[in-house]
Amino acid sequence: MTFGMKTKNSKELFKKSKEHIAGGVNSPVRAFKSVGGTPIFFRKSRDCYLYDEDGNKYIDFVGSWGPMVLGHSNKQIIDAIKKQATRAISFGAPTKNELEIAKIIKNYFPSMEKIRMVNSGTEATMSCIRLARGYTKKNKIIKFIGCYHGHVDSLLVKAGSGLATLGIPDSPGIPEELSKLTITIPYNDKEALIAAFKKYGKEVAAVIIEPIAGNMGFIEPEITFLEKINQLSREYGSLVIYDEVMTGFRVARGGAQELYKFKPDLTALGKIVGGGLPVGVYGGKREIMDKIAPDGPIYQAGTLSGNPIAVSAGAALLKQLKDKSIYKDLEKNGKLFLELLAEVADKNNIPLSYNIKGGMFGFFFSRGLPKNFEEVNNSDLDLFSRFFQGMLQEKIYLPPSAFESCFLSTKHSKEILMKAAKSADKVFKSI
Ligand SMILES: *Cc1c(COP(=O)(O)O)cnc(C)c1O
Repeated sequence: MTFGMKTKNSKELFKKSKEHIAGGVNSPVRAFKSVGGTPIFFRKSRDCYLYDEDGNKYIDFVGSWGPMVLGHSNKQIIDAIKKQATRAISFGAPTKNELEIAKIIKNYFPSMEKIRMVNSGTEATMSCIRLARGYTKKNKIIKFIGCYHGHVDSLLVKAGSGLATLGIPDSPGIPEELSKLTITIPYNDKEALIAAFKKYGKEVAAVIIEPIAGNMGFIEPEITFLEKINQLSREYGSLVIYDEVMTGFRVARGGAQELYKFKPDLTALGKIVGGGLPVGVYGGKREIMDKIAPDGPIYQAGTLSGNPIAVSAGAALLKQLKDKSIYKDLEKNGKLFLELLAEVADKNNIPLSYNIKGGMFGFFFSRGLPKNFEEVNNSDLDLFSRFFQGMLQEKIYLPPSAFESCFLSTKHSKEILMKAAKSADKVFKSI
């Protein structure tokens, strides 16, 4: 499939990596399993471009899965990292840097009255779950099929048979005793939500949701669905956790909760908040956050949490997102691209649906826009793989799975996006 494109070095590096690193990669989606072929090894990035080990230059629609809102190699972020690195790399003790970023995060996410910094999105959601359980003194969690919340045991759970049933482990190594504490129901399904609360409501510590789903493609929630979550949670004394690890600082400066004007009890952030360095954050209502050690009894800790360099990089990005009009412009450009994409798809008799909010979008090879995981699964996944490979040949780097979202940066100019749409036309003709 990589005919005509030089990928010799990437192929060689992957082969060698597989001898030393499990699967050759440090996170599974990177291995290209769902689209076929071998992963590209990158060497350098600038603006909206990636440069691989074979000398190819790509237009990037992954943006390191979110952080590159202002494009790759942002000068202010690089300067902040350099400046901090020469001052100190790490203490494992408090710094002014942490206070600075905490204030910015709170300003953008008013529902987060107090925060705690961790080192990944997984850690953030995991800590939210523990806190919710400790706070409510209940054990069950409701999650939605197709939402990804990191590789936390109790969240790596798939649906049991039938609606509103207890989950089964999504991976060996997760005890059934644990997965049974997770109730999984379809996204946007109010009836299933009501049924789940009716059956288990008194035992539910929290409902965790991606308030715009980004890990089954890009799926918007129905507002009435989010309202139902709030209402039932309040009724039964459960907490609402918004996992905005992907949507925070992406669909809007203040995430999906800014768009929909909802205030969850707890929020998890990641990806973008570190400006490209590994950072996670969780936070929420003061009285809940006060239950965390050392003030409260619920334990959570991290030796390198709030690392000064990581925090400086994050702050350098977040400061530049002050002007909210960035998100309007991202969406405007993105829409232009998606309209063109739909136009060329239509010309080639390919059904395509799409959706976008701020600098994050998704497209599906389906007639209607999917509303849940099952509907995404019913889109033409095989066509996506061929499209992905074709676009790669055209030096356009899309997420290597039909179940991922795409990311734009302020460096994706209209001209670059029009070029990408032209390439898509060419690829549609050939597949
Ligand atoms: C990526 C992601 C996570 C996990 O974050 P990691 O940093 O990979 O651990 C959790 N939730 C959502 C919504 C994500 O997109």
